[in-house]
Amino acid sequence: SASSAIVFQNWRKKKAIGKIPPRPIEIRSDEIVDGVIGLIGNTPLIRINSLSDALGVEILGKAEYLNPGGSVKDRVALKIIEDAEAQGLLHPHTGSILFEGTVGSTGISLATVGRAKGYECCIIMPDDVAIEKVQVLEKLGATVERVRPASIVDEKQNLARKRALEFGNTTLVDPPKSDPEVVVSTKAEGSEVNHELNSSESLVPSIQLPEILRPALETKPRGFFADQFENESNFYAHYKGTGPEILRQTSGNLDAFVSGAGTGGTIAGTGMFLRQALPDLKIVLSDPEGSGLYNKVKYNVMFDLKEREGKKRRHQVDTVVEGIGINRITQNFSLGSDAIDDAYRISDAEAVAMSRYLVAHDGLYLGSSSACNLVACVRLAKTLSKGSRIATILCDSGSRHQSKFWSDDYLKSNNIPIEPSVIDRLLES
Ligand code: PMP
Repeated sequence: SASSAIVFQNWRKKKAIGKIPPRPIEIRSDEIVDGVIGLIGNTPLIRINSLSDALGVEILGKAEYLNPGGSVKDRVALKIIEDAEAQGLLHPHTGSILFEGTVGSTGISLATVGRAKGYECCIIMPDDVAIEKVQVLEKLGATVERVRPASIVDEKQNLARKRALEFGNTTLVDPPKSDPEVVVSTKAEGSEVNHELNSSESLVPSIQLPEILRPALETKPRGFFADQFENESNFYAHYKGTGPEILRQTSGNLDAFVSGAGTGGTIAGTGMFLRQALPDLKIVLSDPEGSGLYNKVKYNVMFDLKEREGKKRRHQVDTVVEGIGINRITQNFSLGSDAIDDAYRISDAEAVAMSRYLVAHDGLYLGSSSACNLVACVRLAKTLSKGSRIATILCDSGSRHQSKFWSDDYLKSNNIPIEPSVIDRLLES
């Protein structure tokens, strides 16, 4: 709206900032929310005090772990289901089943939102994912099927698609290929794009099925492949949700946005929205070791450094960090990849060190991808002037990672050091 645009222009003029000044912003209102789904999104933005004070650059974390399903993926699950419903592909309480291949978070979100909305859920997971994710899924009543470790051959995705087809079709109508409301521009065009600050309209053009198919769909259970890597509803969950929220919460006073990429939905959707709103904003990828995206962003080639050195298995993102890092370009990543300016490669040791540092200094108990993001924030902050502001995503909490990333025994047996002083040195360097 016009008034928010003026507010954020004024903020940009002010530029230099220390602490966040108090101002009325409704993050979580006093209103009674409409079921569990009413708790999704509108997450707070936390000033990470230890890092911000040490750097003289404000590091702001979007507390996505406060979503009811415990991660940023609640937004995506909700958008995927709502868009499918709007297209007549899904009808609640018909015994229909959602199928997805995931390392956990998306599955937990689909199971949570699915339960709330009246769908069953079947999740295909690699067998090396932290066991607590499987346990949560089973408690939520989802069926879990395990496949070999995560890989670019996408065994879990292929099996999820197959299962959905076996159960009775997935796509009578193709998922939306683009949102007619939204112009996805490149960086160069960004400044010319008109965006809306408070856009909350429905995204999906309602594609009506032929009359003859409708009664059958409404009564027959169906399989639906959520397809988080390719389904553009993922991108739009962030383009319409996470991005506008961060813009409002910072009043546009923001210099950079940092995110990792698993499907790429978060960095592409949030990043593209923020870039269009704030053309000078820097967008930076935090990529774990073994992922191919770092080289894609830095050199526009898609190979894994370790693979090139001949050391590691070709298909695997070999890291204790779960949820980010991938060796192919997904549709959701490609929608926003033009907006990404730079990338940092983050080691397991740095991510582990950051997670322990944040508990010690801030009482923040975070998951592995959040820790990676914050290491990238510190490295980026070193290149920015004092008083700059960086926002990132706190994707999930440490409780999802107790048996691997947060297990000292597991880390020791995999020769990953636990040295929070790594972060002190990084801050001092
Ligand atoms: N963090 C966690 C914990 C995740 O599960 C995921 C998704 N796989 C991500 C980050 C990355 O988000 P995206 O899929 O939007 O790239």
